[in-house]
Amino acid sequence: MLSARDAIQNLREYHPPLARREGMRLDFNENTVGCSPRVLQRLTQITAEDLARYPERQPVEALAAQYLGLSADQVLLTNGVDEAIHLLCEAYLQPGDEVLIVAPTFSMYEIYAAATGAHVVRVQCDSDFKFPLDKVLDGITTATRLIAIASPNNPTGTVAAREQLLQIANAAPNAALLVDEAYYEFHGESVIQDIGSTQNLFVARTFSKAYGLAGLRIGLLCGPTAQMPSVRRISSPYNVNGVALLVLPAALEDRACLTDYASEITEGRERLAGELRALGIQYWPSHANFLLLKIGARHREFVAAMRQRGILVRDRSADPGCDGCVRITIGIRAQTDQLIAALHEVCAELNLRRSVTA
Ligand code: PMP
Repeated sequence: MLSARDAIQNLREYHPPLARREGMRLDFNENTVGCSPRVLQRLTQITAEDLARYPERQPVEALAAQYLGLSADQVLLTNGVDEAIHLLCEAYLQPGDEVLIVAPTFSMYEIYAAATGAHVVRVQCDSDFKFPLDKVLDGITTATRLIAIASPNNPTGTVAAREQLLQIANAAPNAALLVDEAYYEFHGESVIQDIGSTQNLFVARTFSKAYGLAGLRIGLLCGPTAQMPSVRRISSPYNVNGVALLVLPAALEDRACLTDYASEITEGRERLAGELRALGIQYWPSHANFLLLKIGARHREFVAAMRQRGILVRDRSADPGCDGCVRITIGIRAQTDQLIAALHEVCAELNLRRSVTA
């Protein structure tokens, strides 16, 4: 009988809870108000001929590279960061190789890495969720071929400093270091400028978060000129759909839309943090568009009570080291007003303040 490879049969399934997402969607770290109006305008101009053609990635890729201050041969547009991760795993991993990830983190590193038959080594963060530099350095072996680090990390919002990342790249010259900067726009620090001088450094960015284009599926992978041909070799020439390619220039042009949104979100993040302190609810300082809260034993009731008030938040209790934790995406000012009002009600209803401070 037909059966999938052992590595595939042993994979953990990942089912993000996409069903019944009615209400204020503070559960997937999306842009909560949507993309630039210029993108919508461009969408209305798409013709039947545009859709009939196979998509041509190269000109838009060159534009994205220019936008990032890189050369076109250092950038590959991808079907979201998810595909960037997948391509790196396919290009560099074989059975028996080791992959280092920090825990907790984004699920897809482990899934794509394990699918190749590589062995995934998880480096657990301490309870402060600070980037565990020493443990990562200690985890590097001669078999390490990929190190995947999200900075800012999901679901914690904590970051790795540029010096730490470069130290890791240097300590593991035979491994690809992927720095996943999906939340870059809310943090503002990057290692993209180090790609030219670091032979094993890759950076991924997405248009799913700050740009508000998660539904279009577009992101990018940047890496050293000498390495990118290997990655390109296994990518479909049509990996990014034609609609995403047609609107990307408009999304890149509207810098004001992006910076206004990011600054409103970072302001809301600090405001929510202040409210949580006042409520006595523990949270971790975040550099992304979300905060991770420690709700405790009543995390499920918390998520349900927020849903009753029309606000979707994400239970992250099952993530390693995240027992009792809930992640809340930050929205615009009016959404944060509504969120804070609901938080006060739910905390009173569930008696959370007392259970947290007791
Ligand atoms: N990386 C991180 C750290 C993420 O949190 C996410 C989305 N949850 C992704 C990548 C996936 O991004 P994309 O939509 O571009 O595939």
